[in-house]
Amino acid sequence: MQDLTREEMLAWFSEKDPQKLEGLFREARACAIRHVGSKVYFRGIIEFSNLCAKDCYYCGIRKSNPNVPRFTMSEHEILECAMAAQEMDYGSIVLQSGERQDEVFVRFIEGVLRKIKNATSGKLGITLSLGEQTAETYARWFGAGAHRYLLRIETSDPVLYKRLHPPDHSFETRRECLRTLRRIGYQVGTGVMIGLPFQTHENLVEDILFFKNEEIDMIGMGPYVPHGETPLVQEVDTGENFRLGLVMIALSRLTLKNVNIAAATALQTLDPSGREKGVQAGANIIMPNITPTDYRKFYQLYDNKPCLDENARQCKSCLEKRIRAAGAEIGYGEWGDSVHFLKKQKSLKESKS
Ligand code: SAH
Ligand code: SF4
Repeated sequence: MQDLTREEMLAWFSEKDPQKLEGLFREARACAIRHVGSKVYFRGIIEFSNLCAKDCYYCGIRKSNPNVPRFTMSEHEILECAMAAQEMDYGSIVLQSGERQDEVFVRFIEGVLRKIKNATSGKLGITLSLGEQTAETYARWFGAGAHRYLLRIETSDPVLYKRLHPPDHSFETRRECLRTLRRIGYQVGTGVMIGLPFQTHENLVEDILFFKNEEIDMIGMGPYVPHGETPLVQEVDTGENFRLGLVMIALSRLTLKNVNIAAATALQTLDPSGREKGVQAGANIIMPNITPTDYRKFYQLYDNKPCLDENARQCKSCLEKRIRAAGAEIGYGEWGDSVHFLKKQKSLKESKS
């Protein structure tokens, strides 16, 4: 099948006919099966700290929100979560937090990575999602065992980016970080928020082309969900953002083909079956929350985050049911690396030999 044109993608973003949309989602799921297989991989996500030096206008844990009790889990607590993930046979984990660049934090992460790698004999894959850092920091963490990094560009439109962030937050720096991560050897993930105030359908089409131009290996994107204690517009059309979220997954799959695409938790905030619908529209990654229940209420990037009262094992059995109901198989115990990344590596090796 030929690549979709800008105009075709744009038309899909306005499509409201449920039958036509079903057809698009079916095609995207078939494309996923063809290029990355029928399995869905789990990444247990540990949201280990809500301390953040940044002030993104949309985010509930931004530094200027005085209502959030701040926490950082200890190395021991993080390690326990990682071991629980391995016991549950999740092939890999994601460590996520607010953004900090201080040396104490950089060293803390380095230590945590080495401990997890040692304790699991290198078997547990580790993705980081810790915001913008220097090339040196990214390299140190790569050396300590992380092999994937998630850094959403949030929007590929620099003008829209400016409206969503304070003046000292930079689109160009963020994009440069993605390039640095790739140079170091990480599998690189990015994504955007969907249904942001001021965002147009054209913006969403350009986002997909941005993923392609930047040779992104993994996509993690989800609907924008307002948080009541942030400066950004609070009114959104939930049903519409959900529809746009699924169309984004489907069009990204049809355009990028062999990348990993996550069905974001924010999808489930808007629809109880959100994540399985994401899989049916072409996603192949799910990120079950394995943060200890006591900390979850302090890590609310947006309101009505689901599963706040569940523990990691409850999340697992609930998700298993959901994924099976969506007709997909779960890739337990596997890293489920991005096929896009592996192919790139292979052709690089071949061109060198
Ligand atoms: N501090 C790191 C990682 C944690 S934030 C970083 O910013 O990269 C992870 C993601 O949460 C952000 O990239 C953003 O896309 C998402 N997020 C924040 N606030 C949100 C909101 N109100 N609705 C939906 N997603 C949100
Ligand atoms: Fe901090 Fe990330 Fe939230 Fe921005 S989105 S305020 S960097 S946690």
